[in-house]
Amino acid sequence: MPEFSFDHSYATLPEAFYSPTQPATVPEPYLIKTNETLADQLGIDLEFLHSSEAAEFFAGNKMQFNAAPIAMAYAGHQFGGWSPQLGDGRALLIGEVVDKDGLRLDVQLKGSGRTPYSRGGDGKSGIGPVLREYIVSEAMAALGVPTTRALAAVSTGETIMREEPLPGAVFTRVAQSHVRVGTFQYFAALDHSTPGNSYVKTLADYVIDRHYPHARDDTNPYQALLRSIIKRQAHLIAQWMGLGFIHGVMNTDNMQVVGETIDYGPCAFIDVFHPDKKFSSIDRQGRYAWNNQPNIGLWNLARLAEALLPLFDEDETIAIQIAETIAGEFMPTFHQRLLEIFSEKVGLPNSEKIDAFMQSTFITMTKNKVDFTLFFRRLTQVAGGANSADFLDLFEEYQAGQDWLDEWSELYDKDETSSSERLKRMQERNPIYIPRNHRVEQAIQAGMNNDFTLFHELVQVLSNPFEAQDGFEKYELPPLPAEEVRRTFCGT
Ligand code: AMP
Ligand code: MG
Repeated sequence: MPEFSFDHSYATLPEAFYSPTQPATVPEPYLIKTNETLADQLGIDLEFLHSSEAAEFFAGNKMQFNAAPIAMAYAGHQFGGWSPQLGDGRALLIGEVVDKDGLRLDVQLKGSGRTPYSRGGDGKSGIGPVLREYIVSEAMAALGVPTTRALAAVSTGETIMREEPLPGAVFTRVAQSHVRVGTFQYFAALDHSTPGNSYVKTLADYVIDRHYPHARDDTNPYQALLRSIIKRQAHLIAQWMGLGFIHGVMNTDNMQVVGETIDYGPCAFIDVFHPDKKFSSIDRQGRYAWNNQPNIGLWNLARLAEALLPLFDEDETIAIQIAETIAGEFMPTFHQRLLEIFSEKVGLPNSEKIDAFMQSTFITMTKNKVDFTLFFRRLTQVAGGANSADFLDLFEEYQAGQDWLDEWSELYDKDETSSSERLKRMQERNPIYIPRNHRVEQAIQAGMNNDFTLFHELVQVLSNPFEAQDGFEKYELPPLPAEEVRRTFCGT
């Protein structure tokens, strides 16, 4: 077998796209976890994966396999405010790998030290955000949501300074690519300031060739590109909503154009349902609340459309009309996918009343402070023949639960698809295990004290979220009042 080796397509782009940067050296790399399945998919030798050399490699101490680290340039709107210069301030793309299925994947070290884009930051990461991203991104993958992946987590033996001193760590992230809406915005601004530049076209061509080759068949490949990105994002956000997932920091620099969930900073899963739920300590207005995610998704995609305008038509008025027409496809696409998902979650794939029924379901869930995940999980058990007592236990007001269940039963009995097929879809749509915020927090707290038992256990349970696992029933349950996580923080 040929030796594992990185390739570097992004580095063939003009110099403005990136800055070659070496990772910092850290004192004492310790391999907390590597992802064997993913490593195997990438063609990484498993013997190497468990060696002390691997700890040095994933910590950034010893670049090998033709790694050539670069920090990528990008800009972005953060909470609606324009930041013209962001970029990888604490991450390095060390190279790309073509995996066993022929898919080209970025491998990135996160928390590997300062780069030209670090601004005031130290380029480092604490162990908390590293464990969190590992747990949640791998859980999302197992839940069937497009996401960046976790390849490795290493602690560095370093103490980093935040509000308090914290143990340092480096995360190895794998993604279909790290091109963001903010990457397009950065180059649109550069093109605008220097007549004759055509960086946006260069980037769009790169993204089409790498991710959306079918767009080349369109009369205007760039319009096809925007249309495809919009569709993927609409589907992605619908999937988030279907799991009660709140990304928490949907800035345009955290929205990647290939449509994977990226950047697990202050993200969280809803326990007690409320449509306006948010967790992030810095999201004071609820800009990134559960229910507002499609609106913000569209807002971000409108920024992408603006960046692409010169590629649609020379006449700006016509270009804007084209962009508006394409952006107009987002909400209907999102809404349709959302209804498909929820109609499967409640076992009513053919109901014509699903839209109104789900609206009233959300109202009942909110009034009764129902746990989001358990609602669908226990409904699945009822559909499978279980007694309704556990389901009804979820409602503050017993009668409200009973009324809801009566209405649901009537619709359920009418649906034409066979009930066994519907039950199967419910089981595939409604997870038993999600990365509940309090469990993630407990794993992180133990990890800060160098105890990774809970972290390993959580990653293990979440790798198979749709099947009951003996002995792990506690991972199904919502937090006790004292365990509840009310606020989350960015991973900086
Ligand atoms: P985020 O919203 O967490 O993805 O980060 C926004 C920007 O801040 C990105 O450009 C990051 O690279 C940068 N950043 C975050 N934390 C640090 C850090 N500790 N050092 C340097 N740059 C950072
Ligand atoms: Mg980010």
